[in-house]
Amino acid sequence: MSNVLIKRAETVLIHHPRPNHLSYGTSRMADLLLPEIRSDEKRVKPRTCRVCGAGAEVRWYGSIDTHCAECWKARVRRYYRDTKPERQEYERSRAMLPHRVAMREAYQQTDAGKAAVARAHKASQVRYPEKRRAHVTVGNAVRDGKLIKPTACERCHVDSSAKRALHAHHHDYNKPLDVEWLCGTCHRLEHRK
Ligand SMILES: [Zn+2]
Ligand SMILES: [Zn+2]
Ligand SMILES: [Zn+2]
Repeated sequence: MSNVLIKRAETVLIHHPRPNHLSYGTSRMADLLLPEIRSDEKRVKPRTCRVCGAGAEVRWYGSIDTHCAECWKARVRRYYRDTKPERQEYERSRAMLPHRVAMREAYQQTDAGKAAVARAHKASQVRYPEKRRAHVTVGNAVRDGKLIKPTACERCHVDSSAKRALHAHHHDYNKPLDVEWLCGTCHRLEHRK
């Protein structure tokens, strides 16, 4: 190793002193040339996880001094779980912004967009076979006249004479003919509950 490089590494260390717990974001040059600095031996104060009380024997992330790696991950997971409704609501409202709606509709007209829709549909059929069976059963029953499709949404009573405008909503996919006929809006609201 050349002296110039070692001098350079020392300069970096002097001008960017590392905290004892060695967080990310310090000089790569210093990491390369002076690996011994990476050890935790220079810590002034030993770590203790404030949740589980564990110390050096468990895994830690570089700069988090209050939680061990596992407790920190649990905390992040809890945060994402607890804020899921707000985040979903936010993403939904964003998805309905006019320019996003326009972009989505334009994409769905393209070949790639059509393929993506078909792929998603196929994946859903594989993932929820009971749902697919229920839909097929309803389609056949309507075709055979065993199930009469009304002309208005059963909730908001909006007239839906246009073809395919009403959705058959199932409360239980194991009772495929027990359906409520809903317009697209009421159906989406129902599934958000
Ligand atoms: Zn812990
Ligand atoms: Zn409706
Ligand atoms: Zn439904």
